Amino acid sequence: MSKLTNRYALHKLYPFLKKINALQEKMASLSDDDLQKQMHIFKEEVHSGTPLDALLVPVYACVREAAKRILGMFPYDEQVLAAIALHQGHIIEMKTGEGKTLVATMPLALNALSGKSTILVTSNDYLAKRDATEMGRLYHFLGFTVGIGVPEDASQQLSAEEKKIIYSRDIVYTTHGVLAFDYLLENLVTRKEERYLRPFSYIVIDEVDSVLLDAATMPLVISGAPRVQSNLYESADYFVSSLRKDIDYKLEDREVFLTEKGLDAAERFFGVENLYQREYFEILRHIMLSLRAHTLFLKDRDYVVGDHKVSLLDQRSGRIFESTKLKSGLHQAIEAKEHCPITDDARAMASITYQAFFRLFEKMSGMSGAVYNERQELKKVYNLDTIVIPTHKKIARIDAPDLYFGHKEAQMEAAAAFILKRHATGQPLLIVTSSIDDSYAYSRFLLAKGIPHNVLNAYNVAKEAEIIKEAGQKNAVTVATSVAGRGTDIRLGAGVQELGGLCVVGIGRQMNLRSEKQARGRAGRQGDPGYSQFFISIEDDVVDEYGSTKLSKYLKKNQITSSRIIRLINQAQINAETLERTSRREIMEYDRSLSAQRTLIYNMRNRLLDAPSLSIEDVKGLVDNCIDNFVSSSHQDVSRFVLDHLSYHYDGIFDTIKDPDELSKQLKDFAYRLLRQKQDFMQGEFNGYLKTTLLSAIDHLWVEQVDYLEQLRYAIALRQYAQRNIIYMFHQEAYDAFTVMMDKMKEQAVQNMMLGMVISNEADSFRILLP
Ligand code: ADP
Ligand code: MG
Repeated sequence: MSKLTNRYALHKLYPFLKKINALQEKMASLSDDDLQKQMHIFKEEVHSGTPLDALLVPVYACVREAAKRILGMFPYDEQVLAAIALHQGHIIEMKTGEGKTLVATMPLALNALSGKSTILVTSNDYLAKRDATEMGRLYHFLGFTVGIGVPEDASQQLSAEEKKIIYSRDIVYTTHGVLAFDYLLENLVTRKEERYLRPFSYIVIDEVDSVLLDAATMPLVISGAPRVQSNLYESADYFVSSLRKDIDYKLEDREVFLTEKGLDAAERFFGVENLYQREYFEILRHIMLSLRAHTLFLKDRDYVVGDHKVSLLDQRSGRIFESTKLKSGLHQAIEAKEHCPITDDARAMASITYQAFFRLFEKMSGMSGAVYNERQELKKVYNLDTIVIPTHKKIARIDAPDLYFGHKEAQMEAAAAFILKRHATGQPLLIVTSSIDDSYAYSRFLLAKGIPHNVLNAYNVAKEAEIIKEAGQKNAVTVATSVAGRGTDIRLGAGVQELGGLCVVGIGRQMNLRSEKQARGRAGRQGDPGYSQFFISIEDDVVDEYGSTKLSKYLKKNQITSSRIIRLINQAQINAETLERTSRREIMEYDRSLSAQRTLIYNMRNRLLDAPSLSIEDVKGLVDNCIDNFVSSSHQDVSRFVLDHLSYHYDGIFDTIKDPDELSKQLKDFAYRLLRQKQDFMQGEFNGYLKTTLLSAIDHLWVEQVDYLEQLRYAIALRQYAQRNIIYMFHQEAYDAFTVMMDKMKEQAVQNMMLGMVISNEADSFRILLP
């Protein structure tokens, strides 16, 4: 959207605003009681069929007035505009400090009137709890209940009962991670009473760039039992160590693949004819994992090794992920590379990408301080338009032009001089670094100068929020990585206005423009004065990794002023952004199969869970099918079939029947007789028994399928050279595997219900033992 179309999009919101403003006096004249009654009337109108759109104007006017009385904040016109856009299912870019928390209350209240699920997600627990609590009073006044989806402390697990209560609330605040996780977990329950979610209806995503873009490259996976340990990691590692770059394998766009030469070498090493045959899938997969471990993952950048253990590193914050491991064997491949003991690799039981997850909502919307840059992707993936909302007051912050340096020392020297000069005036400084190392380097510098300061690098979100809140006080110096303290309002302390407000010092080019905008936006909130200045160098991580090799010529230069070289430096960030987008798109492309299959399976599960009662009649098709398949197959071992599928007790009576029709009839009679016996024995519990046996078959096979698809992705990337359209191949393979799975699932279901045993306890309850 260009400037003009944005103006047009805004223009269409104004008529609503005008009508809402026209109601202002009337709402102000109502007593608290009458205001509350109004909301009640709206609710009833919605129940009797009035569409929400028709009530937007009076409801917003009402919420606005209530916010003034309860929170002491009357939403500005700009906030109301943003709130209208959110109801219409758009994404809004609204600068930091403009009051997005309050904005969200209007669409949430309006949509909650429908009685359908109304949810706000944000990027971390702390913000979810804070906003739910702070806005809670307003919601209660308006007659809504509020739920907080994240546990009180992170180590706590909520029970299904607790979750049911939370999700039954009119408005729920939570994080994207918790919500998506709950969705996956809910689809693993075995009784319908254990479900806790309501059908997804409306969602507002706060910090939407962080949630939809940054988190999009990390699909959510629920891990189950460890898979059988493979000894292929070491041999694959040994083999891969001998490969030569550009001869045996090639690196392209952060992906790696074997060349023909490399393939030949692999086939010789492992003594196989053709690695692409299905039976060698495991070898192929392990080679691919090892190759990735060796070429795409760098020690001390992506992971650290300590105490014979490999731990992942969050590149942006520098934090070590203690318990997170790379999925599907990648972690184990890195362990082999680093000669650490190989840990268990858990199977993926359920997984979903955020791209797929958020599309489950009837209507979604989002807000962020910096997201406009990615509007095309958001349009393409989620079909959402992005609208930039004007600030309430004019932005008074001064963004000084970036300064460029050849090397780190020159960069630091200039930044240090700038920091000292500004600090001497008492102006508060927020130093935002693009790497964890830099945050320590600047902290050491400040220490050496005897300047008291705080360092934040996203270790403890709640504590950091408290610290960063104070970053606007006179003389304050705060060093933070770009993600630290996000969502926290930095107010200026006494006398700071006169000093020019908060000064943001950016150290190094960040991975994307959004992060830099977010960093600058920490200063100059709500028309405050403010200043921002970035110091860039050719040695910045992003330039080093994604910049042109031509830049190495200028490493010795101190300051760089040539616009040609500056353009070259800045190109690195554009390259990094492009790659990020590509990688998000790929994840989504791959997810298409899994997503479609997941929907089918989850629907099947839900139909089964919701079915009022099942009888023998309902499973007749399955049993008949299983027996017919057997009878029409060529290798017939009747006793094997009966023992594997129908009963553990078999005296051979069908072995001599030659006529297929007769055999089929006899086997079916036998099967139904056994089922009726079970029914007589279990009485009312038989229905539950059938459900359990079917569900268990679905889950068993589906978990295998999820795991297989996860692995397939890594294995298939190896074929990139041999085959052109690898994504097409992936989907073909995934589809074939699904067909096979469905057949196996039906067979497993019959085995379960026929061979399953029921043990009755003294307490008159039954326990089911599945084969
Ligand atoms: P954002 O999420 O857009 O960065 P916040 O929602 O954190 O901003 O709000 C920033 C600050 O502005 C908060 O302290 C909030 O109380 C205040 N605020 C928001 N809207 C109003 C308003 N209409 N009137 C007065 N203060 C407001
Ligand atoms: Mg916010």
